[in-house]
Amino acid sequence: MSIRSYIGLGSNLGDSRQILAEAVAKLATLGSVQVSKLYQSPPMGPQDQPHYFNAVVQLDTTLPALDLLDQLQRFEQEAGRVRLRHWGERTLDLDLLLYGDEQIQHERLTVPHVGILQRDFVLIPLLELNPGLQIQGHTLQNLAPVQHSTLQVIAEQDWTDC
Ligand code: ATP
Ligand code: CA
Ligand code: CA
Repeated sequence: MSIRSYIGLGSNLGDSRQILAEAVAKLATLGSVQVSKLYQSPPMGPQDQPHYFNAVVQLDTTLPALDLLDQLQRFEQEAGRVRLRHWGERTLDLDLLLYGDEQIQHERLTVPHVGILQRDFVLIPLLELNPGLQIQGHTLQNLAPVQHSTLQVIAEQDWTDC
């Protein structure tokens, strides 16, 4: 039986649009996917880094959560991710936002992802993919980061074709 998961994608180094498109193609090898629009957001943490490109993928997969995390980290490595500084620039960041309605507390994996309710660049694409989605009892439309979002749409659709 497959589980409906949501993966947050981010990139602000290299050809980010191409890197995210390739990441979506790799995620599609793990199950069936639906892809949000492509967005742009200001960086979290250090401000002397480029804006981020962001998207969310809905992935229906039979992979157990930790195996899915292994695959996400493999894709990050394949995109040449190097850890420079906390919340610093990166070619590819893949966060497991939600895994069904499971709550996971593991040394390698916290689900729902820490910060999910505070970040417009994950909440807005999540809402787009699943308008009825609730997280920990919260209706997403009502959350402050959604109400006060500064997220910009870069591409509406077909951006993964590039
Ligand atoms: P943030 O987690 O605040 O978005 P980040 O994405 O920059 O920050 P990383 O350096 O990419 O953080 O990840 C640090 C560690 O987080 C990883 O080694 C991974 O084991 C762990 N981790 C815990 N929960 C998750 C999750 N839900 N999705 C992805 N990684 C997770
Ligand atoms: Ca992240
Ligand atoms: Ca991460």
